[in-house]
Amino acid sequence: MKKVVKFGGSSLASASQIKKVAEIIRSDESRRFVVPSAPGKRYSDDIKVTDLLYRCYDAAAAGQDIEEPMQLIKNRYQEIIEGLGLDISLEAEFEVIHDYFLRQAGRDYAASRGEYLNGIVMAAYLGYKFIDAADVILFDEKGNFDSETTNDVIRQRLKNMENAVIPGFYGAMPDGSIKTFSRGGSDITGSIVARAVRADVYENWTDVSGMLVTDPHVVDNPEPIETITYRELRELAYMGATVMHEDAIFPVRQEGIPINIRNTNRPEDKGTLIVESTCRQPKYVITGIAGKKGFCAINIEKEMMNSEIGFGRKVLQVFEENGISFEHTPSGIDTFTVLVHQSEFIEKEQTVIAGLHRAVHPDSVDLESNLALIAVVGRGMKAAKGTAGRIFSALAHANINIKMIDQGSSELNIIIGVRNEDFDAAVKAIYDIFVTIQL
Ligand code: ASP
Repeated sequence: MKKVVKFGGSSLASASQIKKVAEIIRSDESRRFVVPSAPGKRYSDDIKVTDLLYRCYDAAAAGQDIEEPMQLIKNRYQEIIEGLGLDISLEAEFEVIHDYFLRQAGRDYAASRGEYLNGIVMAAYLGYKFIDAADVILFDEKGNFDSETTNDVIRQRLKNMENAVIPGFYGAMPDGSIKTFSRGGSDITGSIVARAVRADVYENWTDVSGMLVTDPHVVDNPEPIETITYRELRELAYMGATVMHEDAIFPVRQEGIPINIRNTNRPEDKGTLIVESTCRQPKYVITGIAGKKGFCAINIEKEMMNSEIGFGRKVLQVFEENGISFEHTPSGIDTFTVLVHQSEFIEKEQTVIAGLHRAVHPDSVDLESNLALIAVVGRGMKAAKGTAGRIFSALAHANINIKMIDQGSSELNIIIGVRNEDFDAAVKAIYDIFVTIQL
């Protein structure tokens, strides 16, 4: 067995958290390759080291004095080093960093130092070899991640290595300058390493015991999701349910490697297993419910539109020309609706309406704002009868008016549009009909 283990910022925020992490790693010798984030928050209004670094760098770029913000960062690491009883010093590293900040080596360089230094600390504490991600995670000259070269380089580098710590979040461009992934990107590094070493599992350790069937802010104590497929996860993540960076799926997916989301503070919990495909029947017909508020429907009416070839294309072209992406397009005989994010649309609404008049000469265009979309996702729906019926009757019983319905052709999800103010009640009603009823 070979595992790649990634630990998030809250798992590494202090010496006591790092001790828990080391215990987890040492309790299973297949946990051979470790990808750390930078130290995160120790308490809710604490500041992540990554954010301290950005602030410090911005101060340097503005020509301000950086002694104070730099000292805050040094203190975070010093506390960790002392708390772990380590006999190492980051003084020389900090001198280089200070110098690079003054020379304005870039915000990516600045942010990456959080993971870099934490990697050095972790490697020293675990007695593992440290591998600078700048040597193995490679971007091309345009700044795009070079997945294939990286894969070869990491595979070669780790081939005969028993253990190693590879910091998350960053890599290097061909000229050696540092480039980071977007925020939360250590998840991606973990996945890249897991693919390269052909790990049996990619364990992503965080501060929750995996994914929940729905948002705990909406439903009290929702049930955990034991197993979910990559595709289901994509659907839920798109609707806002995230436990990790969404791009972290792609590298492991290429090799069919499962991801296990685990909780550093409750290592006894099994967490959520994310897989390509599974025979394991989900406990409930649905795997998860997620949703977002703040959509707007543009309802276009025109008699006989159904016989006008190219009508839909012309309508969507207006949105394209205005740089607005659309979410759904439910249609009737004489009606065509486009659902968009209200925040993207609001500034351009009058231009779009005028554009629609020019493009398709509709009888009317009317707008309906403050809509929410709820995705009910589940691989179990394909085989189950009456899923949509159950959703609709649950919503009817909760006295909720359904504004839109869309079932994806994969039968993996049903999207329901409701008013923003009905969102919570709708999610609860759907959760109850599929989950609570079975408990
Ligand atoms: N430290 C980085 C961030 O805060 C990357 C990560 O933690 O994954 O976004």
